[in-house]
Amino acid sequence: MTIGWCFDNTYSKLPDPFKEEIGPVPVKDPKLIILNKDLSKELNLDFSNLDDKKISELFSGNSLPQGSNSIAQAYAGHQFGHFTMLGDGRAVLIGEHLSKKNDRYDIQFKGSGKTAFSRNGDGRAALGPMLREYIISEAMHNLGIPTTRSLAVVKTGEDVIRETALHGAILTRVALSHIRVGTFQYIAAREKKDELEILLDYVIKRHYPNIQNSKNKSLDLLKAVMERQIDLVVDWMRVGFIHGVMNTDNMSISGETIDYGPCAFMDTYDPKTVFSSIDQMGRYAYCNQPVITKWNLSRFAECLIPLIDKDQKKSITIATEIINSFEKKYEEKWLNMMRDKLGLFGVDEKDKYLILDLLTWMHQEKMDYTNTFCHLMNFEIANKENFKKDDFENWKKRWQERLKVNNNTPEKYLKLMRSVNPLVIPRNHKVEEVLNEANNGNIEPFNNFLEVLNKPYLEKKDIINYQIPLSSNEKYQTFCGT
Ligand code: AMP
Ligand code: MG
Repeated sequence: MTIGWCFDNTYSKLPDPFKEEIGPVPVKDPKLIILNKDLSKELNLDFSNLDDKKISELFSGNSLPQGSNSIAQAYAGHQFGHFTMLGDGRAVLIGEHLSKKNDRYDIQFKGSGKTAFSRNGDGRAALGPMLREYIISEAMHNLGIPTTRSLAVVKTGEDVIRETALHGAILTRVALSHIRVGTFQYIAAREKKDELEILLDYVIKRHYPNIQNSKNKSLDLLKAVMERQIDLVVDWMRVGFIHGVMNTDNMSISGETIDYGPCAFMDTYDPKTVFSSIDQMGRYAYCNQPVITKWNLSRFAECLIPLIDKDQKKSITIATEIINSFEKKYEEKWLNMMRDKLGLFGVDEKDKYLILDLLTWMHQEKMDYTNTFCHLMNFEIANKENFKKDDFENWKKRWQERLKVNNNTPEKYLKLMRSVNPLVIPRNHKVEEVLNEANNGNIEPFNNFLEVLNKPYLEKKDIINYQIPLSSNEKYQTFCGT
């Protein structure tokens, strides 16, 4: 039995400036830490005939599968508002794999060694951050949110030096593609229209084939990417996910969540929540995520200006008009998402106030975001006393009146609510706990947590420990992990 790799590499055939041909740098003593069996199945890959040693050799890049063609991708990006030339500084794309359904997936090794784009970095990654990406990306997938996936993590047997010496590791990331807003920025900065056209056509063919024959492809691409990005950020807001570093190089053109660095889930509801230690100004705070999505889309639109119309002024006017439609579109989708969270059918003008009044109350009372919606679905987890207060009772009466509209029934609204409000999320202190154990050689708690996060909308026994927020007031901080 073979593994089932079916490589069909197209990005590596693009012109030279798009990439550097380079393989992963071999590592000393690779050891498999985790392999994603469900994802392997989805990809029609079967590793069951390989022993751990062979699997470790494979996922460390020490032995590349036949048909792969390894490259580092060039891209640029606005990092915290500043434009920089970047590129895969510690990752290689080993190829594009086709599943039996003919779906195309990038297979990328992250932490695979230096490339032409490494700048001052060592090209490596540490075990903690790679396992963090693994667990949070899989949690996002199970929450039904578009995301890159994680196929495997291996330890390299080498130390990486950060503030201290850490275990080195490589993550195998699977994505619809790794093309970012930053990829367009990189090519646009070269000011060669033919290259920009190549990228445009490539992206449309790969991700938006329905606009292949449209009259103005660049314009339609801008609209389509905007739709997907709005849907994505609305999903993040729904579950309280804070990406943490929404630089333009971390915004995927395919609309998947990408690059899990200092990301975290909000516990206590506070729109200004920031976890990342490097985000001093709160640029990427919870409530700022839609604003930044629009900002990033504006940078994307700028790249497309030469393609929209021959007349630059006209191009700018048209692109601006599209970008300016962001707020209205976002608000509509956000309101609908919040209506679902509250089990409301149909549209009532006053819904907005009902929603905002609940959020304001949650903010004032420092309520847990996830668990408040659990309470509304009759799952009691913590902070029960606050739900007995008059202001909440009054709000609840208004909500219950609204619930009666449009032939709604408890059965119907609970079904709707249960489909969008998770019962369990990767809580920060639990993530830290299992990563600590894994760092010390015990992967079992990590695996148990993955299992709990597997079906986040379904009632499960014995998960209360994973649902209770940390009571300590100590501020949780995440680090970039590079
Ligand atoms: P990130 O913050 O992970 O999105 O990374 C931003 C940029 O820094 C990307 O171009 C990465 O490839 C690069 N980078 C991050 N860590 C390293 C590292 N250890 N060595 C080389 N490049 C890195
Ligand atoms: Mg990145």
